Amino acid sequence: MKKISILLAAIVFTTICSESFSQTNSKTYEVATWQGFRTAAVSYTFDDNCPNQLPVAIPLFNEFGFCTTMFVPSDWIKDWSGLQTAADQGHEIASHTVTHNNLGTLTAAQQLIEFKNSQESINAHIKVHSCITIAYPYCVPGNDSLCASFYIAARHCQGYIEPKTPADFMKISSLTTGSVSSIQTVADFNSRVQKADSLNGWCVFLLHGIDNDGGYSTTQSAVLRAHLSYVKEQDNTYWVATFGDVVRYIKERDAATIHELSNKPGAITLQLTDKLDNAVYNYPLTIRKALPKHWTSATVMQNGKKVEAKVTKRGALRYITFDVVPDNGNIILKAAKR
Ligand SMILES: [Zn+2]
Repeated sequence: MKKISILLAAIVFTTICSESFSQTNSKTYEVATWQGFRTAAVSYTFDDNCPNQLPVAIPLFNEFGFCTTMFVPSDWIKDWSGLQTAADQGHEIASHTVTHNNLGTLTAAQQLIEFKNSQESINAHIKVHSCITIAYPYCVPGNDSLCASFYIAARHCQGYIEPKTPADFMKISSLTTGSVSSIQTVADFNSRVQKADSLNGWCVFLLHGIDNDGGYSTTQSAVLRAHLSYVKEQDNTYWVATFGDVVRYIKERDAATIHELSNKPGAITLQLTDKLDNAVYNYPLTIRKALPKHWTSATVMQNGKKVEAKVTKRGALRYITFDVVPDNGNIILKAAKR
């Protein structure tokens, strides 16, 4: 069995062991910058559990099949059932601290309570996922290392599009929308996601009030609907996902290593690993590989289960694209019988 180790450095990866193969391209794996090789990531985040978020905004996002992140101050929630329903539908319920106090005015001991207790409270009420991210009240960060001991990332509000790998996961930039911001119209929203596309980056929107529900900086649902329709039309460009899922994807992608365990005439076996905590980092990464020349198509299995795969032709080569979870067992590509 020939063992080939392939180190994934960035997006395109080259072999480090020198094995002589006639098809150089068949040794090359690519991990997509964004899921499905889309060119931009977009996240919609809601703060403060404003009155129309659950009854108006969430059903709207459900219509388009998009999942959002709701950052809630845990002390403000008297009835968790609506948030539980949203979580069941795939939305992320995450921390906006316990009391919504300004972290910059709190001692480290007080901040610890805000970080820890809000997470515990969400985890006690929301059963489908763990609380792994936080957003800062008033856009004021606290003690980063303390915060990072509870959360994999935190949302800030600097107003720029994040690059494909943010410089600081404890200060992820977001763009405030609505009546007291520069993002109010459909064109305003669309231009921001277009910018993310041009930068190959990640656009995180920050929404509060919806349709004059009394919440801060209200955004009109009709505007949101038209914008989401625009994003949905370009499903090959925009990857819409929760804040936490995009963070997980980025960290996994940047830590990913592919080892080819064997490369036989009709089957290739490989492993995808990331050295991250598998309890949190279990989001599928999109991989692409050129098929050996004589393969017309292929199937993909991971850990004994069939994985959705797509074969596309580009020039003389056929490529297979598939989504697999790091550290989740061997991945086997098999040449499909004609
Ligand atoms: Zn807030």
